[in-house]
Amino acid sequence: MIEIKNLDFGYKNTPVFKNINLSFKEGSIYGLLGENGVGKTTLLKIICGLQHPTTGTVTLDGFKCSDREPDMLKNIFFLPDEVQLPESSTPQRYVDELVPFYPRFAQGTFLHMMQELEVEPGRRFREMSFGQQKKSLIACALSLGTNYVLLDEPTNGLDIPSKAQLRSILSKRMDDNTTIIISTHQVKDVENLIDPIVILTHNDVLLDASVEKITSRLFFEYGGPSRPEALYSEQLPGGCMNVLVNTDGEESKVNIEALFNAVLHNPKRVKELMNE
Ligand code: ADP
Repeated sequence: MIEIKNLDFGYKNTPVFKNINLSFKEGSIYGLLGENGVGKTTLLKIICGLQHPTTGTVTLDGFKCSDREPDMLKNIFFLPDEVQLPESSTPQRYVDELVPFYPRFAQGTFLHMMQELEVEPGRRFREMSFGQQKKSLIACALSLGTNYVLLDEPTNGLDIPSKAQLRSILSKRMDDNTTIIISTHQVKDVENLIDPIVILTHNDVLLDASVEKITSRLFFEYGGPSRPEALYSEQLPGGCMNVLVNTDGEESKVNIEALFNAVLHNPKRVKELMNE
């Protein structure tokens, strides 16, 4: 488990987190959502020990993340949004160079994922599109056998079919020992995949809840009239998308964009509802 306790962090002139508490448990694909610049990437860097908390503690299975001990590092892989790739290398050679650090790497899984993502493992990076490069890196990240996989904006640069392929391989890769954290501002791309959902804002955590909890507190009404009491209402061609307080326990399907907007428009009210 990743545990973040009373975390304060800031860059020189930019405070990023003030006293935040979060935990990421095994067996879930977490969505780490938030507008640009709220600190999603920074949080991932702190978890893998590339940035150090100003105060507070961040641990992974009891290891202090900022110590970057080898026993911790072999169990976590962080895929940044942008990676400088050796142009003349290939995905197979790239992953081969990582393998000594990741004893549970599975070549069969790597090849299978590359096949599913329709990228050739022996093709040079310079002969690939940006999306193909990104997919190769995702296949590397998911085949190294780490229990923790942090993916920063993994859908950036992927076309629509590739986003679906990504969701499919992520779902297949999941097991009870794995924690995947996907950071993204493109919330629609990860709909139906992520659970729990964490929404960050400047300095703070706006939402940290499972989909079950969200739908027990909020009701998503599709195609209704505009409702003044809605936490968020958006006019769409077939009627309004309303996010309402769930007063009678009726089930509904989360619309992640509407949820995101409801949380941004009513941070205090949503926080109260989630804590009830
Ligand atoms: P996000 O991933 O949510 O877009 P970031 O974690 O990249 O946000 O950035 C959080 C804030 O910290 C932003 O205001 C950004 O400008 C600032 N920031 C990020 N990296 C650095 C850095 N290396 N030095 C100074 N400020 C930074």
